[in-house]
Amino acid sequence: MVDPIAELPSYPYDAPASAALFTRASQVIPGGVNSPVRAYRAVGGTPRFMVSAQGAWLTDADGRRYVDLVGSWGPMILGHADPRVLDAVQRSAARGFSFGTPSENEVALAEEIVSRVAPVEQVRLVSSGTEATMSAVRLARGATGRSRLVKFAGCYHGHVDALLAHAGSGVATFALPDCAGVPESAAAETIVLPYNDIAAVEAAFAEYGDQIAAVITEAAAGNMGVVPPVPGWTAALRRITTAHGAMLISDEVMTGFRCSRAGWYGLEGPYQVDDTGRDIGAPDLFTFGKVMGGGFPAAAFGGRAEVMALLAPSGPVYQAGTLSGNPVATAAGLATLQACDESVYTRVQTAAETIASGASAALSAAGVPHVVQWAGSMFSVFFREGPVTDYEGAKAQDVDAFRAFFHEMLASGVHLPPSAFEAWFCSAAHDDDAVEQVLAALPRAAQAAAAAHGSMGA
Ligand SMILES: *Cc1c(COP(=O)(O)O)cnc(C)c1O
Repeated sequence: MVDPIAELPSYPYDAPASAALFTRASQVIPGGVNSPVRAYRAVGGTPRFMVSAQGAWLTDADGRRYVDLVGSWGPMILGHADPRVLDAVQRSAARGFSFGTPSENEVALAEEIVSRVAPVEQVRLVSSGTEATMSAVRLARGATGRSRLVKFAGCYHGHVDALLAHAGSGVATFALPDCAGVPESAAAETIVLPYNDIAAVEAAFAEYGDQIAAVITEAAAGNMGVVPPVPGWTAALRRITTAHGAMLISDEVMTGFRCSRAGWYGLEGPYQVDDTGRDIGAPDLFTFGKVMGGGFPAAAFGGRAEVMALLAPSGPVYQAGTLSGNPVATAAGLATLQACDESVYTRVQTAAETIASGASAALSAAGVPHVVQWAGSMFSVFFREGPVTDYEGAKAQDVDAFRAFFHEMLASGVHLPPSAFEAWFCSAAHDDDAVEQVLAALPRAAQAAAAAHGSMGA
């Protein structure tokens, strides 16, 4: 959500096959890409077109191999083309692609999600994280009969109109559209507050508490770089929303089934279990995507059964999807989650720790100010000193240093997220070979970052 940089230096590392594809793509696809960050606008250069992926590795159209630290932006926790998932997909696809009726795979995937995240008694499956948050917001509005929302600056919830908004002039004033095409009326229903600022939430509720349908937050922010919640954040949001009859939506599209087998909830919860065994301190609604689709379009939102009963066909809140619960996508998601046992989380954590500490050591040796921040095994490197607790802090990075770092890593065969505001994703397939290649690339990239830091900032 950071403005593209207008003037970019050119880079000596050419990628002729990718460049040719990008030229072709730009004729028929706006900006040459189907999701903006893929265009490399924040770092410049030619976006690499990939032709195949296996384990921790990507191969581009020029035949170069890269260690992948993007992981399709989160889903590929097992690594690419995991044989168990591939087998499930092939067997499912051989039985047909989409039935337009209920089928067993979607039941099994819903059961797997419900068994992992205790406060989620029912889920509705959808095809993207955007659909999940959009539908959760509608459900919260339907359940409360209210329309206003609270969201936090720097938290991304997909491209839902009401959630593409930024703060107006004062805390607790209504938000303004973040992009062209979002009507002022849609943004005006949203109040955008600083992440991790409990006092700002209190103030907004003191003024508008009886009009607010829901607070939506990333369980741990990952879309401005990784900014974990301050201790007590989730509990404070729960306390304030409950006191005012509003719902709390925890967006676990990125953290779900990645931070732990039960996502961020598994690290922080259960919060407050009553004598019926329900966690009454948990958020009302959760949204999931990314890992639970195993690289296919599958996402979900869920919560207590009595809240979910408000959805059509049992209730008045309409929500639907031609491909929702698609048998092939749900087979991939189910096989992925079934493979995500404790050993997977341990391997992801180990690879992440080795890479993060290597990056930190190389940047320190080169004298580049930085901080590594964590949410479970999810981490990112901010090119500034820490801690970073909110979006204002995240924005105060040396993006020139990051850009130089990114391109040196790319030239050394490491594919980082092409933006300083993204998490770095490891997988259980990041073995010694892959980690070694990353570690070997770091010192030169750190020196390039140092040179850029020195020259551009002055
Ligand atoms: C990726 C993401 C989304 C949007 O998911 P899409 O599948 O890209 O629509 C929503 N919320 C969070 C926290 C995300 O990381």
